[in-house]
Amino acid sequence: MTFDLLIRGGVLHDGTRADVGVNGETIAAIAPSLPAEAGRIVDATDCLVAPPFVDPHFHMDATLSYGIPRVNASGTLLEGIALWGELKPLLTHEAVKERALAYCDWAVSMGLLAIRSHVDTCDDRLLAVEALLEVKKEIAPYIDLQLVAFPQDGLYRDPTARENTIRALDMGVDVVGGIPHFERTMADGTRSVTDLCEIAAERGLLVDMHCDETDDPLSRHIEQLAYETQRLGLRGRVNGSHLTSMHSMDNYYVSKLLPLMAEAEVSAIPNPLINIMLQGRHDTFPKRRGMTRVKEMLAMGIRVGFGQDCCLDPWYSLGTADMLDVAFMGLHVAQMSHPAEMAKCFDMVTSESAAIMHLDHYGLAVGKRASLVVLDAGNKTEAVRLRAERLAVVARGKVVAERPRRDTTLNLPGRPESVNRRHRTPE
Ligand SMILES: [Zn+2]
Repeated sequence: MTFDLLIRGGVLHDGTRADVGVNGETIAAIAPSLPAEAGRIVDATDCLVAPPFVDPHFHMDATLSYGIPRVNASGTLLEGIALWGELKPLLTHEAVKERALAYCDWAVSMGLLAIRSHVDTCDDRLLAVEALLEVKKEIAPYIDLQLVAFPQDGLYRDPTARENTIRALDMGVDVVGGIPHFERTMADGTRSVTDLCEIAAERGLLVDMHCDETDDPLSRHIEQLAYETQRLGLRGRVNGSHLTSMHSMDNYYVSKLLPLMAEAEVSAIPNPLINIMLQGRHDTFPKRRGMTRVKEMLAMGIRVGFGQDCCLDPWYSLGTADMLDVAFMGLHVAQMSHPAEMAKCFDMVTSESAAIMHLDHYGLAVGKRASLVVLDAGNKTEAVRLRAERLAVVARGKVVAERPRRDTTLNLPGRPESVNRRHRTPE
């Protein structure tokens, strides 16, 4: 047997050891010790081999713009939106592309090979839309970039947003977005959900709305989103991003809401780094966490993926394109400390988010696309605990990033010569 590429001796998600053989862009074989020749061999002995990381919620038009033209002094969502409004007229096609491509280099180095990015459509020039459509084409050999038409300033609140959102979809943007809680009134928010879902249904597109990203427990647009999903036959094709108001909602109301979401197969994308940073800013003490009800949704069978949302932009002053950082924060805020829950947090930045994005070619299985990551960890929970190094990243059958394993040398009498903080734990 001959392969173009062989990943040797890795640990799979279920703890078994196997080699992964790749031909062209496809996984050709997965079996314990494949007796094979290969054009290239990657040694993955005792290292977790997983499908690549997936970020289901990001803003690539704003990324790496932190400090331009100034920093967000209050740290709030609303000042972030105002600051983005100041930055927008200063954007150039070249600068948006350059920052996006620089971010994608970071993403590749972190094994992050699928990204759903919202792109602001409240701009008569649609400059960011044009730039990111070009980026999408350029990075297609290594990153799947899915774009969401996102009327940041409100579909009705901004006078030309609706028209420009439709133009963006005509230009090839993949997914219909929205921001109902930011419209002028609750009624306008509700109407925008209906309008946007109808546009998606007509065009056969997926829906992903910023929904109820507020601490106001009466922001209930997710209810309308679930209703329209049912009414328009969009089951399994609609996602609610953030859903932070659910943190503060009345428990009785949530006990009615979650079954409606489950019935409509509406998925959810909390963004733990950003939600814990931005929510509860109007509170004194006790201060709300402001992340949506992750464990409760999972218990109802609702699909949940964790998103990164922001990296060095008007809303967030940190970020490294590391989806394990996202999983780590999500695990803490949602208090998902059982080994099975920790492993689920890993799935929420890999396979669960891939399912939300409808990435049919995704997965570590024969016949699937040969994109994967080799992690310096023995299993999923260890990967989250260590925010493990990406030793090798393979995109469509090519090794696109690699780094040597770096144990720390110790100079301690009577102790080992090096340490890497790996440790066998219950699964
Ligand atoms: Zn967002």
